[in-house]
Amino acid sequence: MIIITKLGSPKKKINQIVDAVHENGFRTHVSQGEETTIIGVIGDERKFPIEHFLLFPGVERIVPVLKPYKLASRDFKHASSVVDVNGVRIGGGHFAVMAGPCAVESLEQTLEAAKEVKKAGASILRGGAYKPRTSPYSFQGLEEKGLTILREAKKATGLPIVTEIVSEHDVNLVAKTADILQVGARNMQNFKLLDAVGKLRKPVLLKRGLMSTIEELLLSAEYLLSRGNHQVILCERGIRTFEKSTRNTLDISAVPVIKSQSHLPVIVDPSHASGIREYVPALALAAVAAGADGLIIEVHPHPDKALCDGQESLTPKEFSELMKKIEPMVNLVDKKLN
Ligand code: PEP
Ligand code: MN
Repeated sequence: MIIITKLGSPKKKINQIVDAVHENGFRTHVSQGEETTIIGVIGDERKFPIEHFLLFPGVERIVPVLKPYKLASRDFKHASSVVDVNGVRIGGGHFAVMAGPCAVESLEQTLEAAKEVKKAGASILRGGAYKPRTSPYSFQGLEEKGLTILREAKKATGLPIVTEIVSEHDVNLVAKTADILQVGARNMQNFKLLDAVGKLRKPVLLKRGLMSTIEELLLSAEYLLSRGNHQVILCERGIRTFEKSTRNTLDISAVPVIKSQSHLPVIVDPSHASGIREYVPALALAAVAAGADGLIIEVHPHPDKALCDGQESLTPKEFSELMKKIEPMVNLVDKKLN
C-alpha cells in the first residue's frame, strides 16, 4: 500500500500520518521527492484502514498494491484448482455439464429430466428445492420434499446433485442431499450464508450477483475460502444492464478475466443469462470458447408446463443436440468432458 501525500505538505503533517500508520501496527518506508512525499506501508494491507487514512489532511491518495482478496487470487495459488464432485472433476482442464429443471416440481418430472440429461451426456443434475423468487406469489419450491425427490433421482441415475441453499438455517439439511451447494445470485453477498457454507467441507457453486462486479464475486469467494472451504466453483450467470432483449446480459469477458485473476474454476449459466431458450445454445458454445470449465443449463421434460423458468428451459431433445456440439468444442479447447 502506498500513501501519496498532498503537494508541499509540511513535515509535521507527514509525521502525523507516519505515526498513525505505526500506531495501527504497520511499518513504513518514507520516500521524499522534490514535490511530494510517498509513504510505503509495510504489513498486511488488506487490514489497513484506508477510509480512516483518507481523512488525514495531508493525504492525497492511497494506492493498494495487492488485490483485496488473497486466497482466491492466482498470485496466491498459481495452478488452476480442480473441484472433485464424487469423481466428476471441474477445472484444470476438466469440463462438466450440469443440467436439469429450474425447480423440482414432482418425482415424475425430476426423474424424467434426470434420465434425459444423463442420456444426453450431463454429469451433474441441477434442480432447486428452495427457490428464491422475485414475487412472493410465485412457486417457492417443494423444500424438504424436493430434497427427497432429488435423492431419488440420484439413486436412479447416479448423477451428483447441485441444489440451491437460501438460508444459513438450512445448511445441514441441504448438505445431506446436495453434492454441490448452490449459493444463488441473490445471495452472493449474504455473508451469514457464506459463513455457514464456508464452514462445510463440500463443493459450493457461487453465482455472481445480478449487480456485482467480478471483484465483489471474488471477495465473496474469499469468505468461503477463508472459512476453510476450498471447493469453490464460480458461476457467471448474466448481469443487469440497460439491454432489454435478454433477461440479463451474459458477461462473457468475465470468464477470461476471472480465470486470469483467480485459480478457481468458472462455469457459465446461459439459461439465466439469456432467459430465452432460443439463445441458450449460442451462449453455451461461446462460454466453452471463452474458457469456461463447465455449464449449468436448465432442461425440462415439458417446458410449457414448468412451474419456473419454462421459457428458458431446453427440451431434452434440444439439450441432446446442444451436447453434440459442446463435446467437439470442449475437445477443441483442449479440455476433457466428464
Ligand atoms: C438457479 O440457478 O436456479 C437460479 C435461481 O439462478 P440465479 O441465482 O443465477 O438467478
Ligand atoms: Mn431458473
